[in-house]
Amino acid sequence: MSQIIVVGAGQAGSSLVAKLRKNGYEGGITLIGEESAPPYQRPPLSKAYLLGDMALERLYLRPESFYAENGIDLHLSETAVSIDRSNKVLIASGKQFGYDQLALTTGSVPRQLPPAIGGVLGGVHVVRTLADVDAMEPAFRKGARALIVGGGYIGLEAAAVACKRGMSVTVVEMANRILQRVAAPETSDYFRALHLGQGVEIREATGLDRLLGDDHVTAAILADGTELPVDVVIVGIGISPATDLAEAAGLELDNGIRVDEFGRTSDPSIWAAGDCASFPYKGERIRLESVPNAIDQAEIVADNMMGAEKPYAAKPWFWSDQYDVKLQIAGLNAGYDSVVSRVSDRSASFWYFKGDTLLAVDAMNDPRGYMIGKRLIEAGKTAPKDVLADPTADLKPLLKA
Ligand code: ADP
Repeated sequence: MSQIIVVGAGQAGSSLVAKLRKNGYEGGITLIGEESAPPYQRPPLSKAYLLGDMALERLYLRPESFYAENGIDLHLSETAVSIDRSNKVLIASGKQFGYDQLALTTGSVPRQLPPAIGGVLGGVHVVRTLADVDAMEPAFRKGARALIVGGGYIGLEAAAVACKRGMSVTVVEMANRILQRVAAPETSDYFRALHLGQGVEIREATGLDRLLGDDHVTAAILADGTELPVDVVIVGIGISPATDLAEAAGLELDNGIRVDEFGRTSDPSIWAAGDCASFPYKGERIRLESVPNAIDQAEIVADNMMGAEKPYAAKPWFWSDQYDVKLQIAGLNAGYDSVVSRVSDRSASFWYFKGDTLLAVDAMNDPRGYMIGKRLIEAGKTAPKDVLADPTADLKPLLKA
């Protein structure tokens, strides 16, 4: 019987194995994950789950019984250690698994603060796994002082939860503005104003110099010399693709595990999908850190492991929730040279252009603008800037243009 082994039991791994069975694959499937929980949704961790609004079982992507019912051998708390490519064997902490085809859906790992500046003190947390969030949750109590390091979406979501839980919150961002890596100044301004309005303190162009404390963090010294007393630190300074296993096996890397348009690595028996994979996109090579990408790419890889030869055409989209603002993003803004603002008293959207080409949209509480932007971008259409800039103009006719 043919054997497929999938390493990494996150969103991509879980989607991949489910799609294999949906496609009618009848061989063996083994899914290996180093965490103890069955595959779960990560986005709510820094939002509803941390806020205490979502029960654990609701995080699970599929009921625990799904795997056995579908003949999927799920190995939890099992770490893949190395790949013996010549014998087609995956060596894990507890066992060895022979494979005909192997898929790597190893995801990404949060960057940590260096130990030398206090990164391993008690009370310093990253936001990636259920265990991370369960560990920080008791510190999220009214009146506690939170320092958020990094003003990306993870940091800002954590800041919103901490604020809602009655904590006093400071965000330090070393770049000139929050969200600088991912968004235009307009979007940074929108979220800065939102957080300031809730009482969060935001310090931009200020790095963290070091954290102080014996076992547990007690204070932070910022790059400008300011000393802040703190009870808990949340580190949201980005993630790196989890490539150790692939690298040790000699697979080609390129800001992630390098795959072709079908999701195949430099070894034709080994595939990769999700956060860990770098893939061709419009003549370039990208890596996406998002749930929609993990699902779509993993499902294409499942098809291709069964011989479909389907190229993956990514349709990037993302979302974030902070307070009562729902942000939806369609497209990729890399290379933009102008931004059109569409602002009303209830919603706002910022449209990224390169010349006259629409690249992306950030839509805040504007599901309709988002939906239309997404459809325009996916169809390779653009839109007149003056129409977009007028919040009273109906955008729907643009789809027919
Ligand atoms: P995430 O997905 O974790 O939000 P991003 O890379 O989008 O990741 O955002 C991380 C933010 O953290 C960036 O805006 C970056 O400038 C900031 N950052 C990185 N290192 C530090 C640091 N030592 N102190 C303050 N901010 C930092």
